Amino acid sequence: PAPLLQIRDLHLTMQSYDGTAHVLNGIDLTVRRGEIWGLVGESGCGKSLTGLSVSQLLSRPPARYPRGKILLEGRDLLRLPAAEMQRLRGKRVGMIFQDPTTNLNPSFRIGTQLADVALAAARHDPALLGGARGGLARRRAAMALAGRMLEAVGIPEPQERLHAFPHQFSGGMRQRVLIAMALIGQPALLIADEPTTALDVSVQAQILRLIRDAVTERNMGVVLITHNLGVVAETCSHVAVMYAGNIVETGPVKEVLERPAHPYTRALMQAIPTADTPRGSLRGVTGAVPNLISPPPGCRFAPRCARATATCRAALPAPVLVGTEHAVACIHLPERIAAHG
Ligand code: SF4
Ligand code: MG
Repeated sequence: PAPLLQIRDLHLTMQSYDGTAHVLNGIDLTVRRGEIWGLVGESGCGKSLTGLSVSQLLSRPPARYPRGKILLEGRDLLRLPAAEMQRLRGKRVGMIFQDPTTNLNPSFRIGTQLADVALAAARHDPALLGGARGGLARRRAAMALAGRMLEAVGIPEPQERLHAFPHQFSGGMRQRVLIAMALIGQPALLIADEPTTALDVSVQAQILRLIRDAVTERNMGVVLITHNLGVVAETCSHVAVMYAGNIVETGPVKEVLERPAHPYTRALMQAIPTADTPRGSLRGVTGAVPNLISPPPGCRFAPRCARATATCRAALPAPVLVGTEHAVACIHLPERIAAHG
C-alpha cells in the first residue's frame, strides 16, 4: 500500500503587499504508520506552513502551490475537491495546535464540543457511533464516545467533566481535550504543531507520552512540529530539519542527533543554551533567516554557512544518503561524516 503521507517537491508561495514569498521550496517527506516525525527549525522556516498545507487550511490565495504533491494514502490533497477534503479532515487527518484556548469555544461544555466533532466525523463513518440511528440516539452515542475519549487522554472523572466548561480546566487538561478532539474521528495521520510549548515541563511530558501511546495503540503516523530538540529526542522516531523553506536533513532521530551532518543542524545542536533559552531550544544560531521574497540563490543557508563556496550558490543541493535513511542536502559534507560512510 502507499505510504500514509508522501510530500513530493512541494512548493508554496504566499502573496503579500510586499511581494511573493517563496516559503516552501521543494519539500520531500514520507511518513509511515507508526512513525513520529519531528519537524524542527527556527521560527519562520516553514514548519507550520508545512503542517497547514497537509491539513489544507491555507486559503488559496494568498497561498499558492505552483509545484508538487501532498499524497495521503496515495491521493493528492492539492487536487481534491473541497468537500472531499472536508471529509478527510478529522477523519483521516487530525490536528492539534499550540494554544488550547483558541481551539475550544469558551461558551460550550467540553462534552458538547467533543460530541459535535464525533457527530461530524460519523456522518462519513457511521460505525464511529456504533451505527446509532436517529438524532437522539446518535447524540447519546456521541456523548458516550466523548466520555471514553476523555478517559483515554487521562482526564479524571470523565463523565462529570463532560459537563464542564473550558475555563474550568487547566491548560494541560485543555490540551488533553484537544488531543481527544483530534483523535475522536480516528485519524490515520496526526499533525501536532507545538502541542506542548505553552505547557509546563511535567504536563509537557504527559502530553508527549499520550501522543506516543496513541501512535502505538492506533498505528497512526504523526508530524510533530517543534522548535525543541529535546522534545524530538524524547518523542520522535524520525526527524526532518527545515531551513528557510527547505528540508535540509532527515533520518532516524538517534542517527541525526548523534551524527548531525548538515551545517545548519550542527549549528542548531551547538547553540549553547543560556539561562533564558530552555535546553534544546533553537535560539543562538548566529545570523538571521533570509527574506523569502528574494531568497538567496542555491543553498539558502549559504549566507550563514562557514563552508559556503560559489558552488553552493549555483544550485539548490540535492539530498544525499550519509547513512541508513539518513539524508543531507549539502554539497560540502563534513569529513567526519564522510569517514563514517
Ligand atoms: Fe553550507 Fe554549501 Fe552545505 Fe549550503 S551546500 S550548507 S552553503 S556547505
Ligand atoms: Mg510555527
